[in-house]
Amino acid sequence: MKEHRSGIWESSELYHDAVTEFEEAAALMQLDPNIATRLKVPKRALIVSVPIRLDDGTVKVFEGYRVQHNAVLGPGKGGIRFHQDVNLSEVTGLAMLMTFKCALAGLPLGGAKGGIRVNPSKLSSRELQALTRRYTTEIQMVIGPHMDVPAPDVGTDGRHMAWMMDTYSFERGHTVPSVVTGKPVEIGGSLGRAESTGRGVIYTVLHAAKYLREKKRVNIAMDKTTTVSVHGFGKVGGVAALEAHMLGARVIAVSDIAGGVMNKNGLDIPHLQEYFAKHHTLIGFLDSDPITNEEIFTIPVDVLIPAAIESVITIKNVHQVQAKIIAEGANGPLSSEAIKILEDKGVFLIPDVLCNAGGVVVSYFEWVQGLQNYFWTEAEVNKQLAEMMEKAFVRVVMIQEQYKCGMKTAALMAGIDRISKAMLLRGLFP
Ligand code: GLU
Repeated sequence: MKEHRSGIWESSELYHDAVTEFEEAAALMQLDPNIATRLKVPKRALIVSVPIRLDDGTVKVFEGYRVQHNAVLGPGKGGIRFHQDVNLSEVTGLAMLMTFKCALAGLPLGGAKGGIRVNPSKLSSRELQALTRRYTTEIQMVIGPHMDVPAPDVGTDGRHMAWMMDTYSFERGHTVPSVVTGKPVEIGGSLGRAESTGRGVIYTVLHAAKYLREKKRVNIAMDKTTTVSVHGFGKVGGVAALEAHMLGARVIAVSDIAGGVMNKNGLDIPHLQEYFAKHHTLIGFLDSDPITNEEIFTIPVDVLIPAAIESVITIKNVHQVQAKIIAEGANGPLSSEAIKILEDKGVFLIPDVLCNAGGVVVSYFEWVQGLQNYFWTEAEVNKQLAEMMEKAFVRVVMIQEQYKCGMKTAALMAGIDRISKAMLLRGLFP
C-alpha cells in the first residue's frame, strides 16, 4: 500500500497516523483497494501566500492552506486553524479525519481543513482581521456554501468566521451566510454551536460510562464519585469541564497552554472560568495547586479529556497515563502507538472522529438553517445533537464488538463504510 503515498503529504506525524489508522481499518473491513487508494490522498490542496501590513508599517507574508480531502457525500467541511506549527501535511491529515467524522455522524458533507502558519497571539486584532480577510480572498475560488464550508478550529472563533463571511459576501455583492459556520448568532450562527463540541464530548463520555457499566467493566457514574481531568480550557475543554462539573462529576485538574491547576476535591469550574476570563491564566486560582502541562496526563482519574491539540499522549508519556476513559476532545491528541498501548491495557478510548463530532454536527445544523433562513431554538439544536451523537456512538460500539477491534478503528470503519458505498455508487469519472 505504501507506494500510493506521495512525499508531499507525508511529513507530519498526524498525517502519518491518520493513514496508518485508515489502513488498519481498511484491511479489517476488506475495503476495495481502488477505493482505499483514493481515500489516502486529498482531492485538492491549495497553498496561498497571505501578505498583510503589520501595525509597524512593514509587510509580512504568511503561508495558508485549504485542503479538500473528499467531497463525495457533499461540500467539504472543516475548520480553519491559526497556529505556528500548521503545515500542508498536518492540514491534509486533519482534512482526512473530517471526511470520516462527517460520514460517521451521517452528515451530507465531505472533509476539508484549512489553516495559516501563524502565532495568532503575536498579532493585534487589526492584523488578525487583515490576515483572515486576505486569506479568505486567496481561497475564495475553492470555498462556497455548496463547495466547501469552513468553520473555527484551533486559534480561530466566531470573530474570524464573521470576517470570512463578510469578505466572501463583499466579493459576491450579497450576503452569503452559509459560506462558513461557527458564526456569531447575530449574523446567522446557530444557537448552541459555540458549546456544541464540548457538549458532544460529554454526551459521548456519558454513553461510554453507561456502556462500561452494562458490560460490568468499570462503574463510572459521572457524579461526585467520578474524577475528571481536562487538557485545554478553551472552546472545547472549557465547555467540557463545565458540563462535567454541572453533571456533578469532580473535575480535579485542568490546564491550558501555560500550565494548569489541580484540586483533589474538585475545582469550582464556573468560578475558574471567571478567573480565567479576568486573568488569562488558570494559575493562582483559589484552593488549587499549580500543575504543568506534562503532569496533567499523569494524574489518576476516571475520565481524561485531552481537548487542546494533537500528539500530546505519545510513546514518550503513555505509560504514565492513569485513566479509565480517554475522550479525545481534540483532533489526534493520542498517537496511534499510544492508543494501542492504552486499549491493550483496557482503557476505553472515545476516538476524536466520534468524541468531538458535536462541533461539526451543529455546524451542519447552522448550514441548513442558513440555507433555509429558518432558525431553530437551542433546545431543538441540543435534542438533535444528542440524537445524532447517540446514533454514532451505538454504531461504533457495534462495529467494535463485531470486529473485536479498537474504538478508533471501529469509528473509522463506520465512516469509511458510508463513503465507500457512495463512491462505488457514483463511480469514477470519466
Ligand atoms: N474544527 C472542528 C472540527 O475539527 C469543526 C469543524 C466544522 O464545524 O466544520 O471538527
